[in-house]
Amino acid sequence: MNNGTLTDEIKKSARQDQYTHHDYYAIDDLLSDEHKIIREAARDWVKKEVSPIIEEYAQRAEFPKHLLKGLGQIGAFGPSLPEKYGCGGLDEIAYGIIMQELERGDSGIRSTASVQGSLVMYPIYKFGSEEQRQKYLPKLATGEMMGCFGLTEPNHGSNPGGMTTHFKDDGDHVVLNGAKMWISNAPFADIAVVWAKNEAGAVQGLIVERGMEGFSTPTMHGKWSLRASATGELVFEDVRVPKTNILPGVVGLKGPLTCLSSARYGIAWGAIGAALDCYDSALRYSQERIQFDKPIGAFQLTQKKLAEMITEITKAQLLAWRLGTLKNENKATPAQISMAKRNNVDMALKIAREARQIHGGMGISGEYPIMRHMMNLESVITYEGTHEIHLLITGMDVTGFNAFK
Ligand SMILES: Cc1cc2nc3c(=O)[nH]c(=O)nc-3n(C[C@H](O)[C@H](O)[C@H](O)COP(=O)(O)OP(=O)(O)OC[C@H]3O[C@@H](n4cnc5c(N)ncnc54)[C@H](O)[C@@H]3O)c2cc1C
Repeated sequence: MNNGTLTDEIKKSARQDQYTHHDYYAIDDLLSDEHKIIREAARDWVKKEVSPIIEEYAQRAEFPKHLLKGLGQIGAFGPSLPEKYGCGGLDEIAYGIIMQELERGDSGIRSTASVQGSLVMYPIYKFGSEEQRQKYLPKLATGEMMGCFGLTEPNHGSNPGGMTTHFKDDGDHVVLNGAKMWISNAPFADIAVVWAKNEAGAVQGLIVERGMEGFSTPTMHGKWSLRASATGELVFEDVRVPKTNILPGVVGLKGPLTCLSSARYGIAWGAIGAALDCYDSALRYSQERIQFDKPIGAFQLTQKKLAEMITEITKAQLLAWRLGTLKNENKATPAQISMAKRNNVDMALKIAREARQIHGGMGISGEYPIMRHMMNLESVITYEGTHEIHLLITGMDVTGFNAFK
């Protein structure tokens, strides 16, 4: 689908994105002018570039690759990483706002940006050598180079510590074997940040580049969720990776878990975007759709749904904002991030389901964004730590007991 003419045709026949801003508790007063400018820029881009085409791409289960350049231009890749590496140098609230706006368009587009920024660029910045930072970050920031993050394996999802992907020493190289699955961006990524065990059984991060012999990225087909996002496997068969591609700054699961904390923070904001889009569509539909001679929004049962939606969105917005301020001060704990990710994604999924009811039969149609958001959120509630795992993290944090095993 690189054919510009076809994309233009899709745009012409697509639904108009009529989204308006919802800020019931004047949370905008807590944002800086810069935050609002960033939000408007991201929102305008989503309205112009994502909303008109996304339904068509989701229906075809295709990732709109032509959007990558634009994502780089609006600063969606690594917005809070330093400017000296070509990144935005923005604060954590700005990062969250960009994720929210992208996910209002589609969780798959936000996923691509989350993976690139938090799971590929962040580990290279945080744990990489200066040479690795200089080599990869500027290109990743523009989208000229794309990355993916390989942690999950066929037999190890919630328990990544059990991973079997491993590497052995071989002079100035290591030899990598194993497989990862459910990897976002894998089918088109130029590099993969892969977490694997060394000969001592400790987890380390390696940058594996497309083209290295024995490395392949088969696409995973048949998803009913995140259909506009490309998902694949990473297969390593005796891949010789130069030792200079190992991330020198971390050994142990702390490496991938630190990256996940950053991505989960972005998801806590992103999910609000999906919820806002569903609420916005449901509110408008409830005012326009007439049954029994009046708008369906005039019935108490519909009002209950809408009133509860905006209440939950408002609570989620406050949670995300406060988490952002904690993160700006370097005080946000992984357990606080878990709470926000879990709460906000669950909130968004429930709102998507209620919004589907308000739209009646039209709710299942691609004319409205509801069903796409709902299906997307079924992945978002599972990836980056499942709904259950985040609950256990909170449980362990408040009780001091580990209930994982
Ligand atoms: C679309 C999509 C994109 C993804 N992208 C990436 C990516 O880019 N990179 C990557 O590395 N991974 C990615 N993932 C993988 C994702 O992170 C995993 O699916 C997730 O961590 C859960 O692992 P699992 O699917 O193996 O489920 P399991 O771990 O097998 O869990 C199955 C069920 O058991 C529950 N469970 C497990 N352990 C416990 C326990 N101790 N107590 C209670 N309940 C438990 C879980 O909560 C869940 O309900 C992606 C997944 C999807 C669907």
